[in-house]
Amino acid sequence: MNAYDNALRQLEKAAKFIKLDKEVITKLSVPENVAMAGLPVKMDDGSLQIFQGYRVQYNSARGPYKGGIRFHPQVDLDEVKALAFWMTIKCAVVDIPMGGGKGGVVVNPKTLSRAELEKLARAWIRGFRNIIGPDKDIPAPDVYTNPQIMAWMADEYSQLVGKPSLGVVTGKPLEFGGSKGRESATAMGGFYILQEAVKEQGLEPKKLKVAIQGFGNAGSIMAKLLYDAGYKVVALADSKGIIYNSRGFNVDKVIEHKQSKKSIKTFAGAKKISIEEFFSLKADVLVPAALENQITKDNAVNIQTKFVVELANGPTTPEADEILYNNEVMVIPDVLANAGGVTVSYFEWLQNTSHNYWSAEEVDNELKERMIPAWRAIAQAAEEHKTDLRTAAFVVALDRLAKAIKITN
Ligand code: NAD
Repeated sequence: MNAYDNALRQLEKAAKFIKLDKEVITKLSVPENVAMAGLPVKMDDGSLQIFQGYRVQYNSARGPYKGGIRFHPQVDLDEVKALAFWMTIKCAVVDIPMGGGKGGVVVNPKTLSRAELEKLARAWIRGFRNIIGPDKDIPAPDVYTNPQIMAWMADEYSQLVGKPSLGVVTGKPLEFGGSKGRESATAMGGFYILQEAVKEQGLEPKKLKVAIQGFGNAGSIMAKLLYDAGYKVVALADSKGIIYNSRGFNVDKVIEHKQSKKSIKTFAGAKKISIEEFFSLKADVLVPAALENQITKDNAVNIQTKFVVELANGPTTPEADEILYNNEVMVIPDVLANAGGVTVSYFEWLQNTSHNYWSAEEVDNELKERMIPAWRAIAQAAEEHKTDLRTAAFVVALDRLAKAIKITN
C-alpha cells in the first residue's frame, strides 16, 4: 500500500462532494517541489556514510511550507509526498496561514551515536539550505526526531546565514526558541476533540477503555492526558511489543518504565498480546499514534471501539475507512486529530519572528480556539454532506485552499 496513492484517493473522494474546480484538483495532485540530497556523515569509526534525504514542498497557496522531518529506515519519496500533502490539508483545516511540506531521511537513528545524529541533523540543513528558511519552509519534528535535533538544525541554519534565525524550524527546546506547550500539543489537540465528541454522545470518560498504538511523543502524552482525565488505558503498543491490562495501566509508571528500559514491552503485570488481538479488543477508544497503514481492510472488520483518534498520519487505508464508517465507528481523522502539533508550531514561529514569548496558558487557550471550532465546522460539514469526518475535513480544507489557489489563477 502506497501512502501517496491513499492520499490522492482521499482528495478525489472529497473533491467529488464539492465539485472542486478541475484546476485546483490538478494543482493539488502534484507537489510544487521535490528535493533530494545525499547527506554525508563522517561516522565515529572514521568511515563516510551517505544518507538519503528528502524535502517535499507540496503547496504554498496559503503560506510558507510547513511540516516535520522523519528519521526512519522505511522513509521513501511516496511517503514524504503523502505526508506533505496531508500537511497542506491540515494547515487549512485549522486555518493557519501555512502551506504543506515534509522531510525525511532513510536512517535507523537508534543505531547512531549522539555525535553521528548531530552530524546528520546538520547535514540535512546544509543539503536543503537553499529551499528552507523562516519565510519559505519551516520544518519540525516527526517520527524519531526531537527538540534536540531541531536545536542542532536551527543552530546550523543560523551559522550558515550569519545571524540567529531560530524561526527556521519549530519544535525546538524551550531554552532555544521553543514554545511552551509544543511538546504536548499534538496529543492535547486530539484530546480536546475526543473530549468534545465524548461529551456530545453523553458518555463518561471514567467508563471508557482506551488502546494506544505508539508510545512516543504523540502516544505517550495522549496516554497520560487520558489517564489523568479518568479513562482506563488498557492496551499499549510500541515498536518492540504490545501490552494489555484489563484493569487499566498506571500510565505514569509505564512512562517511567519506557524511559529507563527504552520499551514498554517488559512492563510488570501486563499480558503480552498480538497485533491481531490489539485491533480486536473490546475497548471504546483506539488511538493509532505510530505509522501509516496500520488499520487495513483485514483488521478494520474486527475493530469494536466507538472512536478511532488518528494521532498518527495516515494510519487508516481508504478501504478500512469505508468499513469503519459502515460499522458506525467514529474516525477523528489525522488532519484534524493531530493538527494541534502544527498549530503550536505556528505559534512558536510567531513567537520567534515577533520575539515575544507567550505563557503556557496563552498557548493552551489559543490552541483550544483553533481546535474546537475546527471540530465543529467539520462535524457540521459531515452532517450536511452525510459523510465521514475525514471527507468532511477535506471538504472544509479544500474550500479554503481553492479560494487561495483561484485568487491568483
Ligand atoms: P515518536 O518517534 O516520538 O514515536 C513513535 C512511536 O511509535 C514510538 O513509541 C515507536 O516505538 C512506535 N512505533 C514505531 N513503529 C511501530 C509499530 N510498528 N508498532 C507500534 N508502535 C510503533 O513519533 P511521534 O512524534 O509520536 O509520531 C507518531 C505519529 O504521530 C506519526 O505518524 C507522526 O507523523 C504523527 N504526528 C506527530 C506529531 C508530533 O508533533 N510529534 C504531529 C502530528 C503527527
